[in-house]
This record gives sequence, C-alpha cells and structure tokens, in this order.
Amino acid sequence: MRDRYDVVVVGAGAAGIAGLRRLGRGGLEVVALEARDRVGGRAHTIRTAGGFPVDCGAGWLHSADENPLAEPIAAAGFTLDKSPPHWMKQAFNRDFSEEDQRAYRQAFNALDARLEAAAGTGADRPASDLLEPGSRWNPLLDAFSSYYNGAEFDQVSVLDYGAYEDSGVNWRVAEGYGAAIVHFAAPYRIVTGCPVRTIHHGGPELVLGTARGAVTARAVIVAVPTPLLSQGGLAFSPSLPAKAEAAAGLPLGLADKVFLQVAEPDALPVDGHLFGRADRTEIGSYHLRPFGRPVIEAFLGGRWARALEAEGPGAPTAFALEELGELLGSDFRRSLTPLGETRWAHDPWALGAYSHALPGHAGDRAILAAPVENRLFFAGEATHPHLYSTVHGAWESGERAAEEAMAALA
Ligand SMILES: Cc1cc2nc3c(=O)[nH]c(=O)nc-3n(C[C@H](O)[C@H](O)[C@H](O)COP(=O)(O)OP(=O)(O)OC[C@H]3O[C@@H](n4cnc5c(N)ncnc54)[C@H](O)[C@@H]3O)c2cc1C
Repeated sequence: MRDRYDVVVVGAGAAGIAGLRRLGRGGLEVVALEARDRVGGRAHTIRTAGGFPVDCGAGWLHSADENPLAEPIAAAGFTLDKSPPHWMKQAFNRDFSEEDQRAYRQAFNALDARLEAAAGTGADRPASDLLEPGSRWNPLLDAFSSYYNGAEFDQVSVLDYGAYEDSGVNWRVAEGYGAAIVHFAAPYRIVTGCPVRTIHHGGPELVLGTARGAVTARAVIVAVPTPLLSQGGLAFSPSLPAKAEAAAGLPLGLADKVFLQVAEPDALPVDGHLFGRADRTEIGSYHLRPFGRPVIEAFLGGRWARALEAEGPGAPTAFALEELGELLGSDFRRSLTPLGETRWAHDPWALGAYSHALPGHAGDRAILAAPVENRLFFAGEATHPHLYSTVHGAWESGERAAEEAMAALA
C-alpha cells in the first residue's frame, strides 16, 4: 500500500466497489481500504456444507427489470433466476386458510394505500399510526415490516417509506448475488484487513488513520454502514456532528437468515413459502427450496431477530427448527440439518442489516449524502433517496460519489 492517493474509498461493499469502478476510468490513483478480510460487505455469498451457495446478505435483485446490475451480472456469466417470489402465500395453506390469506392481502394493500396517502401529505409520523386499530392482521403486518424494513412500523418514517421505489419485479442469482458483486471488484486495488479509524480533514490533505498506518488523499469516499458513523467506529477530526446525527436517524434494522438442509426435499414445493404463524409478529418467514435446492432459508427480522441474536449463537436456528416442527411435524423437523445462521447485528463492520429512517428523519438521507469541503464524499445504501436498503441503491450511490470526487479533483 502506498501512503498517498488521489482518492481513497473507505469500505468495499457494493457502494465502494461501484465507486472504484467509476473512478478507475478517470486516470486517478485510487484505492479502497476494507476492514474485513473479504470484499462485498452485506452482499456475501458462502458455499454451505450442502455443496450449494447461499446469500447471507442480499439475495434478491429488487426492481430487477430496472436494476442497473441485472445486465452486467448476466453479461459476466452469472445465472439470473426470474422465478417470482411467493412471500404472501402459505404453502399447503398450513395453519393459514386460503380465505384468511386473501383477507391478509387485502389488509396489506389497504395499509399500503394509507401509507402512500399519508406520505403524500408531506408530514412525517411513525408508519404504525396507519395500522387499523384492533385489526387481527396487525401482528403479521408488523412481521412483514420487520423483514422489509428490518424494524417494526413504529420505528419507520412514513415519508421515507413512501419515498422507496420498487417495480415489484424480483430476480435472483443462482451463484449468489454476493458472488456477483465480489466479481466486479476483481480488477481494482483493494486493501483488505485495513479498518480506517479516523479521517483528519483539518489540513491541506486528508489523512486517514488506518490499521496499517497513515494514508493521505486529496479526496475520500466514505462508504461504510451508518452505525459506524453514528457510534464512532469511524471518526472525523474535526468532528462532523451533522453526519453523526444523520447516521443515527438512519439506523440499520435487522434481518437474519438461517439455512436448513432438507433430507426429503420432494415433500416441499420449489420456491414455496411459509409464515411461522399468522397471529404473531415474532415469527420466521420461510423460503422453501430456493432454486429447487434441498434447503429452507428462514428470514427473521426486527426486534425478534435482535432478541434471538442476543440469546447467543444457535438461538435463531433453534427457533426456526421449533417453528417448522410445529408447522410440519416433529418427524419433518428431525429431517432438517442446520447449515448456518447469520448474526448481522453482532458483525462489527455492519452492526445491522439495512437502513430505515426513524420517524421524523426522512431528510437525513440527503444530509448524509452531502459532500463536506468538496473533498469528503459519502456513499452507501443509506445515502440513496429512494433505493436505500438495496444493493443497486448502494451501487448507484457509489457511482454518484465517484462522479462528485472526480468533478472536485478536475
Ligand atoms: C440479511 C440481509 C438481506 C438483504 N437482502 C437484500 C436483498 O434481497 N436485495 C437487496 O438489494 N439488498 C438486500 N440487503 C441489503 C444490501 O445487502 C445492502 O443494502 C448493500 O449490500 C449495502 O452496500 P453498502 O456498500 O452500502 O454497504 P456494505 O455492504 O455494508 O459495505 C460497507 C463496507 O465497509 C466496510 N467497513 C465498515 N467500517 C469500515 C472501516 N472503519 N474501515 C474500512 N472499511 C469499513 C465493511 O466491512 C463493508 O465491506 C440485505 C442485507 C442483509 C443483511
């Protein structure tokens, strides 16, 4: 690693990698410094003992028909699976009759319309204000929020929720979304195992305090998750209180996954889906046999995911096994083999899954994204005005920050 660059990118997740790619065309001396010993951040594919890949973080190309990553991912030789998700359906109608599923979908659509109308007024409040008081579907709607936002509706800004844009088309990458993002990093100079602890911007050059000594730069793109900025994992000197406050208004919600291998996969529908229960918020959402593989991918969100992580390693898996046992029988449960679980809230370089704006904080995304002194630039999913919490939003934010840096240096 040299000790002087034109641009240093802090963090090599989707945003940092996109920034590097864009900067790479500008003839500048550029590097990314990455805390972990791997790149990709919250886009992370691993190969399980079952012999197939799973995505520990992002798995779906949301707004796939408009997603700027779809075409390059396919062009790079990855396999796009366009089968639609069945997140609203209950396989075998198990403990959730067809009639009740229809009633739930109606309640969901009505809530969505109320949220959109409330966002249109321009006044912010918690999204939970729009739940119909006393509705039997509120626990399940909050479970949905815990997966979608990483937090229950009382923690979600109506304005921010309304600003999110999604075409409703969702595709997957058979080899892993994380694997595809990492593939794009290959040509670029990235130093892994190199956390940046401080960025000094009091002098003529920016000075980064890293695990491998000081590095100076003319411009820096900060592309780390918001908790690192709000909790001081990456500090500025002089301090930047507006950035820390904006990052605190955009915490990362939590979503965790548990992977279970199925001994008799034919008993389950390919790409089927099960809610753990229809009358509680503290439940799992189970994707059965994604890609036709002999696996169940359990999704846990919000406060319940936090509580299970806090119980310690193994607790999310034990819960998923118990809930699936209740749904599909104890013999079925005994046929499942745990393959792994995530602990995103305990990951020191993420401290959560994806950002949501707290009520009253929808404006924080623009504050976080704004450059400082025309030489400190900010990227990452949380800085995107309407594609936040996604890989393609992170990607676009990295390209935007790189354009800003190149314009400043020119
Ligand atoms: C369980 C889960 C499911 C998800 N599902 C989807 C999905 O289906 N579709 C979708 O589009 N999105 C999904 N997401 C969200 C998506 O993964 C993120 O929005 C996106 O990957 C964020 O990219 P980023 O570059 O902004 O941040 P990150 O990927 O977090 O990258 C930031 C990088 O900065 C590094 N870093 C942190 N601190 C420092 C430091 N001090 N010094 C140096 N480096 C540092 C980190 O190690 C990391 O590599 C999911 C996320 C999770 C966790």
